Amino acid sequence: MPFELPKLAYGFNELEPHYDAATVEIHYSKHHATYAANLNKAVEAALWQNKSITEILTSLESAPEPQRAALRNHGGGYSNHCLFWESLTPKGEGKATGKLAKAIDAKWGSFEVFAEAFTAKAMAHFGSGWVWLVKNKAGELDIVDTHDQISPISLGLTPIIVIDVWEHAYYLKYKNVRADWIKAWWNIANWEKAEARF
Ligand code: MN
Repeated sequence: MPFELPKLAYGFNELEPHYDAATVEIHYSKHHATYAANLNKAVEAALWQNKSITEILTSLESAPEPQRAALRNHGGGYSNHCLFWESLTPKGEGKATGKLAKAIDAKWGSFEVFAEAFTAKAMAHFGSGWVWLVKNKAGELDIVDTHDQISPISLGLTPIIVIDVWEHAYYLKYKNVRADWIKAWWNIANWEKAEARF
């Protein structure tokens, strides 16, 4: 099987109290695992076993038609969740540092203004999806949302950090209150990893 679940850099319970162990475990070992399994089935059917996930996500238009939707949905679901787990840490510093912090200040004026804009985008996203800090094709930072399992990599964007706003990401602990999940996410956002991706 070409695609496996990534090893998490923390235990299921280590993001408590902001992200509960039960949700992390189900999200990883059920939701993410299902995307990986379905992606593996789709690449096998498409004879695309030798492609990297980036190659898959950037060449969907040339995928065999019977597998194209599955490659988009499960390839995106697999990759988006890999990026999501990397976006979290038990040792959240609360804000960006270094060159990323400077670039955020240059674009939004301050980290606080950026954080308000990111939170507003996450609140306003209708239905299932993701909100990303990305580097666009011009090399500039931007906040974008993607629906369902669309990957920013397919759109030519470089993901820096991401929040999952599908209800499965937060429903057990936060019920339907997405605002509480977004507030919690800021406490466990991995700005060190974001800086490295930037
Ligand atoms: Mn998810």
